[in-house]
Amino acid sequence: MEITIDGVRLSAQPGDTVLQVALRNGIHIPNLCYDQRLEPAGSCRLCIVEIERVRGLPASCCMPVSDGMVVHTHTERVEAIRRTVIKLLLSDHPNDCLRCEANGDCRLQELAYEYGIDFPDRPYAKHPNADQEDDNPFIVRDYQKCILCARCVRICDEVQGASALSIVARGFEARIATFGDASLMDSPCVLCGHCVDTCPVGALVDKKRVGYGRAHDFRRVLTTCSHCGVGCGMFLLVRHGRIVAVEPHHASPVSRGSLCVKGRYAYDFPHHPDRLTTPLVRRNGELEPATWDEALEYVATRMKQILAESGPGAFAGWCSSCCTNEANYLFVKFMRAVIGTNTVDNCARNCHAPTVAGLATTLGAGAMTNSIAELQNAPCILAIGTNMTETHPVLALRVRQAVRTGAKLIVADPRRTELADLATTYLPLRVGTDIPLLNGMMHVIIKEGLYHEQFATERCEGFEELKAVVAEYPPERVAEITGLPAEGIITAARGFGEAERAAICYTMGITQHACGTDNVQSIANLALLTGNVGRENAGVNPLRGQSNVQGACDMGGLPNVLTGYQKVDDPAVRAKFGEAWGCDIPPEIGLQHTEAILKMGEGQIRCLYLMGEQPLLTDVDANHARHCLEKLDLLVMQDNFPGETSALAHVVLPATSWGETDGTFTNTERRVQRVRRAIVPPGEAQPDTWIICELARRMGKDIGSGDAKETWDEIARLTPTMAGISYERIEHAGLQWPCRTPDDPGTKFLHADLWTDRKAKFMPVHHQPPAELPDDEYPLLLTTGRRLFHYHTGMRTHHSQGIDDVAPEELVEMNPQDGESLGIEDGEMVKVVSRRGEVTVRAAFTRRSPVGTVFMSFHFRESPTNVLTNPALDPKAGIPEFKACAVRIEKVETPEAVPAT
Ligand code: SF4
Repeated sequence: MEITIDGVRLSAQPGDTVLQVALRNGIHIPNLCYDQRLEPAGSCRLCIVEIERVRGLPASCCMPVSDGMVVHTHTERVEAIRRTVIKLLLSDHPNDCLRCEANGDCRLQELAYEYGIDFPDRPYAKHPNADQEDDNPFIVRDYQKCILCARCVRICDEVQGASALSIVARGFEARIATFGDASLMDSPCVLCGHCVDTCPVGALVDKKRVGYGRAHDFRRVLTTCSHCGVGCGMFLLVRHGRIVAVEPHHASPVSRGSLCVKGRYAYDFPHHPDRLTTPLVRRNGELEPATWDEALEYVATRMKQILAESGPGAFAGWCSSCCTNEANYLFVKFMRAVIGTNTVDNCARNCHAPTVAGLATTLGAGAMTNSIAELQNAPCILAIGTNMTETHPVLALRVRQAVRTGAKLIVADPRRTELADLATTYLPLRVGTDIPLLNGMMHVIIKEGLYHEQFATERCEGFEELKAVVAEYPPERVAEITGLPAEGIITAARGFGEAERAAICYTMGITQHACGTDNVQSIANLALLTGNVGRENAGVNPLRGQSNVQGACDMGGLPNVLTGYQKVDDPAVRAKFGEAWGCDIPPEIGLQHTEAILKMGEGQIRCLYLMGEQPLLTDVDANHARHCLEKLDLLVMQDNFPGETSALAHVVLPATSWGETDGTFTNTERRVQRVRRAIVPPGEAQPDTWIICELARRMGKDIGSGDAKETWDEIARLTPTMAGISYERIEHAGLQWPCRTPDDPGTKFLHADLWTDRKAKFMPVHHQPPAELPDDEYPLLLTTGRRLFHYHTGMRTHHSQGIDDVAPEELVEMNPQDGESLGIEDGEMVKVVSRRGEVTVRAAFTRRSPVGTVFMSFHFRESPTNVLTNPALDPKAGIPEFKACAVRIEKVETPEAVPAT
């Protein structure tokens, strides 16, 4: 359809509002309460317009277009009313613009200039009960400046779903407040900063940027978040060589103007005084400062010695899920072309190795099949083994939106997570009983004819075998194994099977088991059975952990593949890389992380090169890992902070951090996005790429200059699935692989060819209980995971101001019933003991934990949870069983209990 605005004919879509069409076409209509992320409110009355043959002056943000509509945006009547509205707002607003943190970034200020209106010449009347609130580490609330547009209330409700704010009182006393005027810390607020971002004036500002300057003083650098695999787009605000704030990138196809607390506020770790700033070499038992020349010469000499004495089999290298693709690629190239080993791995081994192995067998590729944005349009979502509101908060917003618009949400998780509260069907299954649940759902789906017969029988191999296996899992039997009611299993099966399309999301609740690969294959079976692969708004969606764990795997940071999952045991692949790198790629598949650790303990691996990894916190049975690492002849550690591992390292190399490094990350939906250098690194820290290339040169091989763009171009040349991705093309938005040619738009969802050219494979699997179950000596089951405020080892979040104020310590979460039967109090310090070690932590009573199951994260070096966990391995992917081990809890003599936060 067409409408005319101010004499210009414009095309419009049904459902558009007049304001949307105007903004899309660069036509300015003043507004204050409008935010494209929100339902229009029409409350500020500034976007009023005159429309021919329409009575009154409608708010253009709420006015739907109709064909032939003629709109005038700046008539005399309209302008007179706008002027009055602005005057009224100014009369109710403190006139301290020069001292306001929003100066230069205030919509009311802009409008006052636009309409030439001064503050009224009389004293400002103070609003009662609206004094500045400064009750949390991140957000300053000064409601004297509030214009009551309610954008903060609406974004907290409509986008974040926290509903922490509302308008209270009436008339002059009306103000924004939490329930009962509680502090934000005592409200449902998750400190995501959406309210600050949407506030059009200075009523809400970021506390950490206060005093650094006005909006126009900052340099804005577009980059990608450093924390999780969602890969939200953001601008770093830089002043005087410091990152002083972060703002969301509203045009990011991934995050669309959203960030979580980590992205928004855990950005200043590069400036922390604990940063490594100079190379360190261990002499006489102590790490001592050294020049780069000394440190690199030392490493090269020792590596050459070990190579000469024991050959490449004596080396292992672990690259990093939080370093750039370019750094990971050069690391992989170094290990293969300079050292001559395929024993290279990354921390995906401990999180999504079963995804890579399991989905490669069933579907043909081990990555998230669909895109984050598609989740919002999925009619049904099964979230199994994923606490995504804490681990992938911005992605979880898409799931929330889907539920808001009527999607069914089935949540299967032993813990009653926040997501469970949103669920249409919540299945609190026992830890480690995912396969029986999935088999039970498939049993019902087949029995009731809810499967996609044509897809399951014609486009997949092994349907009869699957049918035979799931026939052994009637809901009654599954109920016994899982602890779920049979009706719940049937309801979930029907909900999933009847949905026109359904997406499955999972994270480490599925993969971190001794049967992790089987769990993943079982998920793929359910998706294939219902024809939910190779279609939009559906799919199998493993949510990847760290910011570049997808990229670390894509770059060949695994012992069996090179870039883009080209197989090491394929002679043609080896020949291609051998020619490009000027070396012979060894034909033997290398050792997995967990295998390599054992070889270190046996003295067969003598040198470990670590880039951005802290295995003493992340490895299962961490005491044993420490024991193995102690045996190394050469431990080279390259990182931003010393962490736990520096205590054992022979050489520590200071690397530049996120914010100081150019390159790319690949997010969980396979999107390659830019990260950019915005600040100068501290001291002598150097980019990982430079360090690797320098070391290679001293080992006698030139593997490149380390320049980020040049390195990416080399990756693209050697990787067919990424050949079409270049820095020029991902300047603003990134591209999803496969992207094979310069005009390929990238791939939104994988496996469309399963409907035409290729077949998938059912891999039926049976239930296997966790390797270690509670008994009389260790009567509780410990399951582990992540928390909202920290990420991974906490290397970045612990070094960001304010985060530890909100989440200062590890907690063991337990059901109050367990606490009472153990005779302990909420908030009391307790000892958690397993067969492998013990940790002292504070008890936190919560009904999120089922009776008999306790929960801990692994974010705190002071209480390293992984000394407790069980090293039982998934034989197919080599991942340990982090998610289940038997423990007991003992009282310890400590000062008084303090309630856990
Ligand atoms: Fe960063 Fe992940 Fe939060 Fe996005 S969801 S802001 S990527 S931590």
